Amino acid sequence: MSSPALARTRALRLDDVGAASKQHEVYGLTRIRLGPLALPFPGNFLFLKYLPPIKRWGPYPELTAAQWEAILAALAAAGARMTVGVTAGWVEADGSVVPFPRKFPAQAAAIRAGVERGLLEVANHGYTHCVLQDGLFRARLFSGNRPYHREFHEWLPDDLHRDHLKRAQDILEGFLGRAVVTFVPPGNVFGAATLEAAAAAGLRYVSCLNPGRGGPVAGLTFVDDDAVVSMHDRDIVRGGLVAFRALLGEPGSPFVTVREIAEAREGARR
Ligand SMILES: [Zn+2]
Repeated sequence: MSSPALARTRALRLDDVGAASKQHEVYGLTRIRLGPLALPFPGNFLFLKYLPPIKRWGPYPELTAAQWEAILAALAAAGARMTVGVTAGWVEADGSVVPFPRKFPAQAAAIRAGVERGLLEVANHGYTHCVLQDGLFRARLFSGNRPYHREFHEWLPDDLHRDHLKRAQDILEGFLGRAVVTFVPPGNVFGAATLEAAAAAGLRYVSCLNPGRGGPVAGLTFVDDDAVVSMHDRDIVRGGLVAFRALLGEPGSPFVTVREIAEAREGARR
């Protein structure tokens, strides 16, 4: 059994850093509220999906290095820590993949400094965040493309799960100079092959909604989102640092990393 103090402790997790889905994942509202009615609305039609307030997800910009400095200062001031789900490869429009530290060197340096200061844990949030094959990640003219902005669908070959997780690990551990142990499956989508590949790539913790849905996996500890406040970089890009600071100032014990929650659970089990 976990101690009451541990049960109250929550992790804070910020996903989608470095994920090109913020550029390519574009879909629109398909129902529109008019008083009590929800009317069908062609929100995915041509350019409508790019226009606020019809636009639902992307495009939005990557957090800047200056914003990262402000995030680190806010965490330090609150005595809090945070896990950052980084997608290790940026998918260009032509389908080529650029490693995060090469695409965003200033942001990567700020994040690494945050790890070195003990304020951040970097988690593996996939290699592409999307399906590369057949250009499925690209925006369409007449429909949204949300399903293809999940990386680890069960219908993709087992090799791809292994290859993407290994590439992501190599990039993230290369620029941090330390082990990355937490896996955050993009969009909560994964299969048995994904988890086997994660364990083989050296990952030990899986953090998402109901990560234990397929039963236990040797070598992996699951951290369900009920122990985690999960956000997207989009929340800070759109909502600003004010909302982030307010979250850190909420009553309760300060936030920790997903890794800390998982380690405490492992300790309690032993
Ligand atoms: Zn994501």
